[in-house]
Amino acid sequence: MYVVIFNNHIQLKSMSCAYGHCQPQPIPKAVNLFVKVTDCCNARCKFCSNGQSHSAISKFNHVKLWEVVDELRNKGIIINRINITGGEPSVASDTVNQILEKAASEPYHNIHLHLNTNGLLPASQEMMRLARWNSISMSLHHYDRSKLSEIYGVSLSDKALEFDNIDLQKVNASCNLVRGYIDNPAEVENMMKFAISLKLLRLGFVALMKVNDYCRERYVDFDEINFTYIPHLYFTESRNRGTDCKCSNYLYNHNGKILEVYMRNYANPNYCESSLLYDGQYLRQGFHDDNIIY
Ligand code: SF4
Repeated sequence: MYVVIFNNHIQLKSMSCAYGHCQPQPIPKAVNLFVKVTDCCNARCKFCSNGQSHSAISKFNHVKLWEVVDELRNKGIIINRINITGGEPSVASDTVNQILEKAASEPYHNIHLHLNTNGLLPASQEMMRLARWNSISMSLHHYDRSKLSEIYGVSLSDKALEFDNIDLQKVNASCNLVRGYIDNPAEVENMMKFAISLKLLRLGFVALMKVNDYCRERYVDFDEINFTYIPHLYFTESRNRGTDCKCSNYLYNHNGKILEVYMRNYANPNYCESSLLYDGQYLRQGFHDDNIIY
């Protein structure tokens, strides 16, 4: 479905994903608005889609952000949530704090605010402690601190995995499948047990997007990991959107403690229905094309 905002067309999902024997159902007009507050990061992951470009966004136009929010609402489009993302948002804490301040005021106080963070560095954890976040996505690509330091390209402190004073109940962790790290059923099982030990409720396994040579060399296909043979991992449903993306959902039971688990595989990295990205200067649809909406 196409909708016009700021005199430009944006593409929205009109039907839900297909799953099992259920046919896709009509859904209301809605978007996820991603707000990229910086390209910079305090980590140096080799699979980063920012590549080597760790340049700061020089000036973040706050007025324009709230014009975008107003325009979407005025056009009857539901904002599922505003996702504050980067880079790593905590390296642009002034910008984030200014957004949070505005989001606490009328008529924005009821907007769902979501933080995307690497979650393991001191500044990242400080940001996770802020009460205004309705939900948080944190990357957690291994259960071993030294392996995590290798993956992040920075040394993590002894306390990184303690998550002091962080409400992990609102955190959804996501683990990239990377050859040499979490790349087989036994390691997937170790990750799930680790997530349960942290009292996380939800853990996702995500296939790398083939954005550079490292990702192509270290790519692990879901078919290589036979999830059906992992003990106490119970399949619940599979959803897919044609050839664009596929996800499978499971419940893992470890000594009576339950973890929601999902696997997500993007076959089409340019898939961007219902996703808008504001980078402090321009609003675009999706993450990869230069299609400026406003
Ligand atoms: S934490 Fe995220 S943004 Fe930072 S380098 Fe790693 S993948 Fe890139």
